[in-house]
Order: sequence, then structure tokens, then C-alpha cells
Amino acid sequence: MANKNKFSTRCVHEGEIKDTMYQGIVSPLFMSTTYPWFGGDSEKKPYPRYFNTPNQEFLSKKIASLENGEKALIFTSGMAAISTSIMSNVKTGDHIIFQNDLYGGTRNFIQTEFDKFGIQYSFTGGLNPEDFSAQIKKNTVGIYIETPSNPLLKIVDLKSVSSIAKQNNLWTMIDNTFASPVNQNPIDHGIDIVIHSATKYLGGHSDISAGAVISTKEKIENILNSAKNFGGNLSDYTVWLLERSMKTLLVRVKQQTENAKILAKMLDDHKNISKVYYPGLQSHPSHSIAKEQMNDFGAMMSFDLNENIDVYTFLKSLKIIKPGMSLAGVETTVNFPMKTSHGLMTQQERDIQGIGDKLIRLSAGIESHEDLYEDLVQAINSSIK
Ligand SMILES: *Cc1c(COP(=O)(O)O)cnc(C)c1O
Repeated sequence: MANKNKFSTRCVHEGEIKDTMYQGIVSPLFMSTTYPWFGGDSEKKPYPRYFNTPNQEFLSKKIASLENGEKALIFTSGMAAISTSIMSNVKTGDHIIFQNDLYGGTRNFIQTEFDKFGIQYSFTGGLNPEDFSAQIKKNTVGIYIETPSNPLLKIVDLKSVSSIAKQNNLWTMIDNTFASPVNQNPIDHGIDIVIHSATKYLGGHSDISAGAVISTKEKIENILNSAKNFGGNLSDYTVWLLERSMKTLLVRVKQQTENAKILAKMLDDHKNISKVYYPGLQSHPSHSIAKEQMNDFGAMMSFDLNENIDVYTFLKSLKIIKPGMSLAGVETTVNFPMKTSHGLMTQQERDIQGIGDKLIRLSAGIESHEDLYEDLVQAINSSIK
């Protein structure tokens, strides 16, 4: 069903539950795990692990709509959404192509679980379309990508990858967490299945763990069959909290993106920062592809501090910005990928991807960009060796 409302209106109103009892303006929360059933085959059977309780069903309409998909499922974490979506689309003996730059948890899932089930995989050498084509084998079933990537904000050309996949009868899956539905809608570029760690922008306040997957009705039905077995449904209470968070998705991410654009430019000019990685900068190697396929450039960036800056002192000297593991909250946070998200990789693996020992990842929040810049500069100045 096509929805005529604009994105901002859908953020607020799509999939809301009408309070027919008291006419309150927010969706009521239904915590029941049991609903009437009189034995009829065609009777609806709402149950949390069937992903079909009222709050789950209604919020999934909002999420599907914001990604221009037909249907969505909501999970207890991003990894639950990722692992369930992958495992429902593969069997023993199949082969999947993965982009080389991936979220650390996804990489770990592949490397620790796939061998047990006889699932084959390859990581691409580079991120150009021909790097994906080069990995296609007789038993390849799908391509899994993540763009912009973590932590170096590398860009994969969505249209090229989806057309390679279609020519070879492969499914495509994308982790769209970094862009959020505000800044990129991969289904519009031919990608089949879109995944989010809703712990990040969809939640946006660093207080919810959740995940989501969006696709066609048919593909979601297939994922749902496995999802019922794996049991990664989100509790209705958290579903309700996520709905509240998502009403402000557009205003938050817009502000975060504006801050990121300004900070990226200012940091790029700073003498103690040797390099800034942000797709919105002209100097980014895939700036033109990002411009073509993204609605805007997103609120994540990374930068290399100069050799003369002590990273640990820098992190401790920040006053407003918080060093933290996660990202995408309304608070600006920084992270040290070498020791956190990419700490499980070998030095050689990090070198190949270009993750250096002075690399800082920054997730822009909604504070004043002037205060944020001032905080970064004073922390840099306090940590010159
Ligand atoms: C955080 C994150 C995940 C995993 O999500 P969880 O909610 O922590 O399970 C997956 N992909 C990306 C890009 C992430 O940032």
C-alpha cells in the first residue's frame, strides 16, 4: 500500500495504534503474551515470538515505510536481525560474498559460526563492483554489504552491486545502520534486504537494544520462518519505547548530520589532524557515489590524529564528548577502533583495511557544533607529546 505522507509525517504517525478506549494520542502498550484462540485454523494467533503482537506489528509498519519496503520484523538486537536474516537465506554448501569492511560483530559471527554449518564465504579484496564479481562461484547465493562502512566510511556502489547480483540470481543484503533510513534507502537502489541495528539511530538515545530487517512480503515471510525458531523477538515494552524514539528520528539525524558536515570540514583544516574520513568531503575517494546514492552524508566520521598526539590523553581530556563503545545517540561520542570495535582483528587485518593506531571514530550528536569543536581542540592541545 503506497503511502502518500512525507518522511517526517511517517516518522511520527505511521503505524501508530489508535487508543479507542480513551483517545490518548500515543499508542497504547499491549503487554499480553496470550490472546484468545478457539481452535480455528484461520484465527490469528498473536504471540511475542511469532513477531505479531499488536505493538510489534504496528511499529514494523513504520519501519518498513521509512525504508520503502513492504514489511519489517523487529529483533532484540542488531546481531539477532543480522544472524537470523543470513541463516534463513543460506544452507550447507552455499557460498556468500561479504564486503571486506564489516561491523566487527558480523565478521565474528561469520568466522565463528559458518564452518560449523558448512557454509562457505569470501571477503572481497576491495570495494569496487569488480571486487564483488570476482568472488562469484557456482554455489554463491548472496552478497552482503555495509555502506558507509565502519570505521573508515568507505562507500560501496549500491546500483552496481545490486545489478551484479540480479544478473547472477543472488540476493543482496545491506547493513544500513550507519546511514539510517534518513540518509540512505537501499531498496530504492535495488538492494533486497535492509538491516538495522536499531540500538543506534532508530533508538537514538543510547538506551535501547533492538534490530530490524526490511524487505518484500515474500522475503520477510521467509526470514520470519527462521526467526520463530531462533526467538530473537523484542519485548513489547521496548518496542513501545522504540516507537517513541523513532518519532524524532528525522529531526535528530538531520541535526547530527549537519553537525558532522561542519565538524568534518573544520577537523580537515586542523593542523594536528592528518586525515578525515567522511563521505561528504570532496576529498573522499567515493564522494560522487555517496552523493548519488545517499540522501545526505550521515553523522559518522573518523580521523587520524597526528603522530605527536597521545591518543589516551586525548580521550581523557574531552569534557563534553564522551569516549564510548557505541554510537548514534544524541550525545557526541568517540571511539578508538584499534582497541574496541576492531580489537579482535590482527594487526595485519587492520593494516589491510587502513585502521591505524591514531584513528578516532566520531559519532556526531545534537549539541552545538561550536562547543563540540572547541572540546576537540582543547583535548588535542592537552595531548601534544
Ligand atoms: C552496532 C552495530 C551492529 C550490531 O548491533 P547490536 O544492536 O549491537 O546487536 C551491527 N552493525 C553495525 C553497523 C553496528 O554499528
